[in-house]
Amino acid sequence: MNEDFATKAKMTWCPGCSNSAILVAFRQALNELIQEGFLKLENVVAATGIGCHGKILDYLDVNSFTSLHGRLIPTMTGIKLANPELCVVGFSGDGDSYAEGLSHLIQAARRNSDIKIFIHNNQVFALTTGQATPTSPKGFKGASTPFGNIEEPLNPLRVMLSAGATFVARTYAPEIAKTKEIMKAAIRHQGFSYVDIIQPCLTFFDTRNYYQERTYWLDEKEFPTGDCKAAWSQAEVDGEKIPLGIFYESG
Ligand code: SF4
Repeated sequence: MNEDFATKAKMTWCPGCSNSAILVAFRQALNELIQEGFLKLENVVAATGIGCHGKILDYLDVNSFTSLHGRLIPTMTGIKLANPELCVVGFSGDGDSYAEGLSHLIQAARRNSDIKIFIHNNQVFALTTGQATPTSPKGFKGASTPFGNIEEPLNPLRVMLSAGATFVARTYAPEIAKTKEIMKAAIRHQGFSYVDIIQPCLTFFDTRNYYQERTYWLDEKEFPTGDCKAAWSQAEVDGEKIPLGIFYESG
């Protein structure tokens, strides 16, 4: 087995783009789950929406499907319905699933569809050169908001918790080892798994310093991951401290 699931495609992400870290984390997670006997490669299907995140399929030698913008979730749901034996993993972006595809994301959480969704959240429409998305902060200056974004950002973790998602986590792309572990937990979870991956866009919204100064990991032994109210409280954004980890998981 090709343990990196590598292809011969030329890398077209910007040099240093943190999408590469997500790719590495997923390759490692997939390899370990296969070695541990949890998955068979032939039963894995990876799908994407449209955006910089979508290029990840160019570099993964697995069964795959590139969907339409904002229509990743129905595509994943259809694949799973057609063959429930498959493990259906989706990669999306904040533009793809918090803007165009938000209703689909909410319905999948509400139904507890047995699909796994990883959102590359760089808080900007990067592929189209820097427009504001629902998670862009107030004041963000980009191609569509040259005088600063006047809107408050969406809190996607709270949206997912209130929609009834049974696995809710957040990670930070440069932390590859932790992201790998969260991806493995998300794939092992039976039901809908949602992971928001903070993914700085080096070209249109470089937030690396901001997140490196503010992020910290929830204590895996102390934090009550079965307590939705505790998860809701932790998901509050105060701009000073940004927790990472598994916020909520229910059986
Ligand atoms: Fe990565 Fe941003 Fe470049 Fe897209 S535009 S490849 S998200 S650095």
